Order: sequence, then structure tokens, then C-alpha cells
Amino acid sequence: MKGFEHLQRELEEMKDNGTYRQLIPLESEQGSTVTIKGKEVIQLSSNNYLGLTSHKRLKGAATKAVEQYGVGTGSVRTIAGTLTMHEEYERKLAKFKHTEAALVFQSGFTTNQGVLSSMLTDEDVVISDELNHASIIDGIRLTKSGRKIYKHVDMDSLEEQLLASMDYRTRLIVTDGVFSMDGNIAPLPAIVELAEKYDALVMVDDAHASGVLGKNGRGTVNHFGLDGRVHIQVGTLSKAIGVLGGYVVTSETLKEYLIHKGRPFLFSTSHPPAVTAACDAAIDVLLEEPQLIEKLWENTKFFKDGLQKLGFDTGISETPITPVLVGDDALTHRFSDELFNEGVFAQGIVYPTVPKGSGRIRTIVTAEHSKEELATALSAFERAGRNLGLLKE
Ligand SMILES: *Cc1c(COP(=O)(O)O)cnc(C)c1O
Repeated sequence: MKGFEHLQRELEEMKDNGTYRQLIPLESEQGSTVTIKGKEVIQLSSNNYLGLTSHKRLKGAATKAVEQYGVGTGSVRTIAGTLTMHEEYERKLAKFKHTEAALVFQSGFTTNQGVLSSMLTDEDVVISDELNHASIIDGIRLTKSGRKIYKHVDMDSLEEQLLASMDYRTRLIVTDGVFSMDGNIAPLPAIVELAEKYDALVMVDDAHASGVLGKNGRGTVNHFGLDGRVHIQVGTLSKAIGVLGGYVVTSETLKEYLIHKGRPFLFSTSHPPAVTAACDAAIDVLLEEPQLIEKLWENTKFFKDGLQKLGFDTGISETPITPVLVGDDALTHRFSDELFNEGVFAQGIVYPTVPKGSGRIRTIVTAEHSKEELATALSAFERAGRNLGLLKE
């Protein structure tokens, strides 16, 4: 069809410089192994930390909700699309997180957009870590507030930006709880101390920490013993929680404000009953099956140690997100292809998702992986690494 020529040209350029991507469909349900192109491979690229995407209790809750309440809600939350289960779930989530209130959005992405775009005006300033997630960056783009960027996890840089922001009404520091490409944890205790010193608010995006860090997976705030000292926690229900959605846990006031001003909340349809029921069951699983999180960390240690013993550089990771640093973009993709041939699905991440020259294979183990699967994956990494000259003979 005509009219898209300049877009086609840009796509061709992407193919030329190696940034063009193809979607890779799974032919099975998500799990520790998946079927791709007819081949069973070990899955190391999902965010399904606890294996909840196919957990029996979540599937049971979702099925029951479909039978009882149907498949959709037919309206946005603010008109006719709030079911009692939506509100019950929010009360349960707030209680779980030890906060005054919780509000669920369609996704983690829209939560960041909704929160940031609605609460900040040109009288306010947002101070953001330079490696924050795209949804935070986009949320900030939608505001008229002042914008400051501090160097990645650099507390001197954050303090400088705070000092330069004292004329604003509200200073909002925003950071990922766990950074999704390197797997390092934000220095939250130091951030909170600076925030208290300079009278700033703190917002943490716990997308990769919910269900992973803290008691029963309550997140980074709980992990560092900072309950009650962080004003806004955002998270996703799409990663460790295994379903779909985003949430903000915060004050009663901000929740009420977002119900009136959070644009994705106001203008996009609410979650189907199956989604909410499954998310509800996920909290029960977090509370009643703590062995899943224990297994996740046990597997993380086993796999990370294994990679390091082989001689791979896993960067500054402290969490189940373990990058295997390669460097060159094309070599990163070849490594990923080689791993696939060896029976392991582990995607390469290159520029523009990470800085040029810092291409990596990004792995995430889950609680579902058996030791045997992880040992098999490590042998695959070893063979592929030697074939490509990444490991010494
Ligand atoms: C994945 C992610 C999101 C988006 O969450 P979705 O529920 O997938 O929309 C937001 N923030 C961070 C830090 C993430 O890693």
C-alpha cells in the first residue's frame, strides 16, 4: 500500500545496521522450557520469575471468574467498569504492601504515564535516574514540570540536582527499584535520606522487584526496611505476578487524585475479571508459598555462579536478571543464535536498548527451572562461548 515509503526506508536502514528485529512466537505456554520453531528450548528470557503465568491457583481463579463474571467489563473504571473484585483486590494489595491505598492500571507502562503526567505541573520538578525505564521517560515527557536527570545510581549527582531544584513546589525523585538491563538494585536508603534532607518525594518503580525482593516479594522498599518512607511505589502485575496490569501503592490522597486525573485510568477499559481474579490469587501464592521465592534465589545463585566460573562477565547484577556481557552488537546476536542451536532461548539485547558496544545476552532464571535445566543451559553457554571465542580455550 502506498503512503508509507519513508517508514519502509527507515526499516531498510534498520536491516542494514542490524537493529531490525523479528518477533519470535512461542508455540507453547510460558515455562522453564518453551517450544519455538518446533523445538523445545530452555527459556531464559521471560520475566515469569515465579512461574505464575501457569500456576494452578491462578488458572483456577481466572477460569472461575470467567464463568461467574464473563470475559470483559465493557467500560472504563470511572463509568461502569468497576467490579467489586477490582476494589477488593486494591484493598488486598494495599494491605500486602503496608500502604494506605492501591490503584490498579491497565499495565505498568500506563501506571507510570498516569501517575507522572497527572501529579506534576510547571511548579514541580521530577529528578530521574538516567537509566530509568522507557515508561518513566514517557511519563515525564507528558508533563510540563521541570526535568532533571542524575547519573545512574550516583548519589552526588542526585544531591546536585536536588540543590538546583529548591525553588520548585514539589521535588519528585523517581527511580527503578531494580534496573532491568543490568539487574542492579537502586540505592534506596541513600535516596530516601537525600529526599528527607531536601524535602523531596520518592517514587520507586518495582516492576522487577515485586515478587522478587522483600518479605514475600513486597519489593525494594520492604527489602531495605523503608516501609512508610517512600511516597509512591509503582509495580507491574505482568512480570513475577504472572498476569497483566500495573499498580500504584501510595497515599489515599494520591489515589483519589489519580481516579480523577490519571488519564489511562479514566480513558481505557478496566481489567477483565479473569485478570483481576488471577492477580488476587497471586497475592495468596506470595503469602502461602514463600518457597517459590526461595527457589528463585537459589536458582539465581546457582546460575550466576556457574556463568562466572565459566569466565563470563555478568556485570553488576544483584538479582535474577543476569546479563552476560558480550560487547559487539552483531556478535551478541550470533551468540544468541548459537545458544538457540544448543537448545537455549536467551535473547541478545543491543543498542538502542543498551548503550552502543555493551551488547549482552540478558538471562532471567525462574523458580520453575530445575537444576538439571540450568546445568544444561550452562553447558550450552560454555560451548557457544568457546565456538565464538568469547571464552578462552
Ligand atoms: C516492564 C516494566 C514496566 C512496564 O510494565 P508492564 O506491566 O509490562 O507494562 C515498567 N517499568 C519497568 C521498570 C519495567 O521493567
